[in-house]
Amino acid sequence: MNSIRYAREIGLEVQVNTTVTQFNQEKIRDIADILAAEDIALWSVFFLVPVGRGLHHHMVTPQKHEEIFHELYDLGREMPFDIKTTAAQHFRRVTMQRLALDRSQGPLQNGSVHTSFSGAPGFSAGGGRASKGVNDGRGFVFISHFGEIMPSGFLPVSEGNVRTDSLVDVYRNSSLFRSLRQPDGYAGKCGYCDYRDICGGARSRACAVSGNCLASEPFCTYQPRRPGSDRHASNTYRGRHAEAGALSRDEVTAILSGKN
Ligand code: SF4
Repeated sequence: MNSIRYAREIGLEVQVNTTVTQFNQEKIRDIADILAAEDIALWSVFFLVPVGRGLHHHMVTPQKHEEIFHELYDLGREMPFDIKTTAAQHFRRVTMQRLALDRSQGPLQNGSVHTSFSGAPGFSAGGGRASKGVNDGRGFVFISHFGEIMPSGFLPVSEGNVRTDSLVDVYRNSSLFRSLRQPDGYAGKCGYCDYRDICGGARSRACAVSGNCLASEPFCTYQPRRPGSDRHASNTYRGRHAEAGALSRDEVTAILSGKN
């Protein structure tokens, strides 16, 4: 904590990174409260991807992902700093759903956050960054210390090397990068989900868990309506904000555009 104060004393903006795991999943609000007492600019909340030293059994459950997303949405309205997520593309969906539900229940209180959808390759509860559905290899590229060109640090599949290959060419034309940018081609529910253009699931987590970088995000509780089905979208999350979690994209759009 002293490091934060020393940085602020000499005018440096401070960003704090936290990785959500089984060990701190019940401490999210406590951490936010501690940071609120410091003059930080950004809290960057990472959701564990089981690569490198990250272990599969240290990830929080899909239900807990959803619950913490709702908590971050609430904190984003209360805290004096911006909150950004990484490897949590489905936080964009939750933010849209909560924003819509809140609007349907009356004017928003406590400030003006949640007006944009952003992140690189994460997502911010505030404004000021890229407004597209950035994901691994989609608006984002990672170069390792060996020069290897990868979709992200959490998706460590090398598609070339900056010492021998054109970074622009690899990003634009490698088959992996190209397929990562085409959500319609994802397998399973992410391939037909009505939020796939702004979400698409964490490609890195899909890759790490299943070995298939185009597989569905395995830690998302939303159940989009299947093409041709007359069943409404649903959500297996049963917590406090379950009503928001089942809102389809059409319903969210109708509410936010004032047509509902
Ligand atoms: S099903 Fe996939 S695309 Fe849809 S919200 Fe979940 S992670 Fe995102």
